[in-house]
Amino acid sequence: MASSTLVCDLCQHPQGDHFAQKFDLNYLKCAACGHIYADVTGFDYVGENAQANAELEGTHNAKHDSARHLKVYDQRLKEFAAYRTGGRLVEIGCSSGAFLRRAGQAGWDAQGVEPVAESAAVGIRDYGLNIKIGTLQDAAFADGSVDVVYSNAVIEHVDSPRAIVGEAARVLRSGGLFYADTVNIASYTWRFLGERWKLFDPRVHLHLFSPESLRRLCEQAGLEVLKMTTHGVRFYATREERPHGFNRLLDELHKAPYSFAARRNLKGDNIAIYARKT
Ligand SMILES: [Zn+2]
Repeated sequence: MASSTLVCDLCQHPQGDHFAQKFDLNYLKCAACGHIYADVTGFDYVGENAQANAELEGTHNAKHDSARHLKVYDQRLKEFAAYRTGGRLVEIGCSSGAFLRRAGQAGWDAQGVEPVAESAAVGIRDYGLNIKIGTLQDAAFADGSVDVVYSNAVIEHVDSPRAIVGEAARVLRSGGLFYADTVNIASYTWRFLGERWKLFDPRVHLHLFSPESLRRLCEQAGLEVLKMTTHGVRFYATREERPHGFNRLLDELHKAPYSFAARRNLKGDNIAIYARKT
């Protein structure tokens, strides 16, 4: 099995074994801890992420204001309410700030960090949001000054999730909450679709977590994991492949037991983690 000398971000082991290849890039599996990460040596993943973000931005802005998204935001804000003391909530990778707007309406001192300047500018200019252009580390919040650090589909994109979660732990007050959701490689969807899965993309998803590796990431930053949830099961790689009419109904029926089981066994394709600063 081919191996590489790239260092694992989670455990700092210097070597990974070949896991899979897509778009001429390799995913490696850490020989020590099993974490899966992309070998993007010589590849402009920052540019690729920025381009993907710019392409999605138009649809995202419309989509993220939809009733369905507002309902999801409200559900999360309801969960976060128990952690509110000083009232500061920080979103990592907030894009143009759809969630921050909702958090602000719910009474939070909502602040965001966003490295893509064009996205941040929309939130600052059009909505008057408090967004700092850059990373969480760039924002340099004071120690223990934040009640909730929130990130939605961000940690799989960054160079070092370990550095970000470490910084989140530093800025959280004792008892504050860290929330992250990300792609789950230990999922039914990975089992069914393998490399055809759309989210299995080393150009933009540099890290592919499992419930086990996500837990480890939080625990090594000194966070206590309170709960993890997963949801989402896919049988088809693209919308076009999905059957129509009656066969769609059969497909949904076939999927139902997996979707149901995923709530308990953490095999849904999207994982969320809630961890507390001790
Ligand atoms: Zn490792």
